[in-house]
Amino acid sequence: MAVTSSSTLLLRNLSTVGRIAQSVRANSRIFSTGEMIRALPRIASPRSISSTRAAHNEEAAAKAASDTGAPTIFDKIVAKEIPSDIVYEDENVLAFRDINPQAPVHVLVIPKLRDGLTTLGKAEPRHTEVLGQLLHASKIVAEKEGIVDGFRVVINNGAEGCQSVYHLHLHVLGGRQMKWPPVTVLAVQILLIVILFSYMVY
Ligand code: AMP
Repeated sequence: MAVTSSSTLLLRNLSTVGRIAQSVRANSRIFSTGEMIRALPRIASPRSISSTRAAHNEEAAAKAASDTGAPTIFDKIVAKEIPSDIVYEDENVLAFRDINPQAPVHVLVIPKLRDGLTTLGKAEPRHTEVLGQLLHASKIVAEKEGIVDGFRVVINNGAEGCQSVYHLHLHVLGGRQMKWPPVTVLAVQILLIVILFSYMVY
């Protein structure tokens, strides 16, 4: 069902791209190549290019990591052995800024005691309390950061979910307009750039 709806969305986006391309061709007297080159940075903005690169890096990091149960860098952050920019802390939870932010606000919320929670997929009934505490802490972080009216909470799970650190963590993201669904939007952006380039060359 998810596959059907995402392919429907992709087909709809493709037909939109096709219509845009047709109109660009039909108005070639209006849109000169120079104008299109000047317009391109607005489509292939540094932000969209860097987010494409960041997505690729995250995927590579996730493929390189594995769920061995070994201590992670987050243990060192909890123990304050390495520095972090802490946003919120209580007895059970620590929230600190992501070192590679994907939004103006990007905070990681983690349980201080991992207790087997390398991934959300390892959650047991005994973890329900800490899972609730993590969600509540995410809301406190959003309030502290001034984004409580619009923010996103993400949990990447396992290699295919793009998880690179095996200590359960919630990403709290906000401070800009979020897109949905995230991957399809990125794919359509790339497709649009490729089609516009091929029309410019043609
Ligand atoms: P994930 O890919 O969901 O496992 O997310 C792991 C996140 O941890 C990534 O967004 C990294 O940028 C972030 N990260 C890794 N090391 C650190 C660090 N030392 N301080 C803050 N964030 C970190």
